[in-house]
Amino acid sequence: MTAKRDTPVTSGEAAAETSRDSGRSRAVEDYLKAIRHLQRQGSAVSTSALAQELERSPASVTNMVKNLAERGLVDHEPYYGVRLSAEGEREALLIIRRHRVIEAYLIERLGYSWDRVHAEAERLEHAASEELIERMAGALGHPELDPHGSPIPTREGRLDERRFPALTQLKAGTQAVVREVSDSDEERLRYLADLGLYPGTELVVLEHEPFGGSIRIEAAGVEKSLSPSLAEIIMVEPRAVDKEEA
Ligand SMILES: [Zn+2]
Repeated sequence: MTAKRDTPVTSGEAAAETSRDSGRSRAVEDYLKAIRHLQRQGSAVSTSALAQELERSPASVTNMVKNLAERGLVDHEPYYGVRLSAEGEREALLIIRRHRVIEAYLIERLGYSWDRVHAEAERLEHAASEELIERMAGALGHPELDPHGSPIPTREGRLDERRFPALTQLKAGTQAVVREVSDSDEERLRYLADLGLYPGTELVVLEHEPFGGSIRIEAAGVEKSLSPSLAEIIMVEPRAVDKEEA
């Protein structure tokens, strides 16, 4: 008599390459992150949007979404699209935690420049155990922000999300502090480092050149001209205007 198997049978990419100690495959983790990313842009997440984001065929996305729904990680209503369930959201935030802790560690402890850590973190986030991540976070003193200014979710999978406007949205004359920059474009990050624009840098918007032209700013006493596509990835917190001065 053979022992009864009660391991659920899964197939295809959902079961492939099981990563770390969560038992989730790399593909599942990438889907959860992509769905969260698209959800944050505000609209319902369609299968075709997901296929485009993940560079996969709509048929394979449909299969995986069905699989994720069966595991309770997403809710999928035909015609309304895909949404993360509470459990899916928590899982996505834990992956983001791993990503951001790894980025912080690579910069703070291993001397990486900030343009080079995203690609490493994209790979390592699927492989690092919870113990490794917590040791890295502990070695850094449990930072709340990663080096790009993005908040690090807690180990329980919670995140206080702050939303700041892009630099492109500020009027001339506005003072602001850089809070966050998009982490995924290496060339832009290198250029921002050359300009000295990091989270925490104070600046003043001097002028928007007309017809979608550059944005002139002053930071650390130096004038700089930024293209709209660069200013778009810089999130800033406008300084509260002092009413008495106005
Ligand atoms: Zn990153």
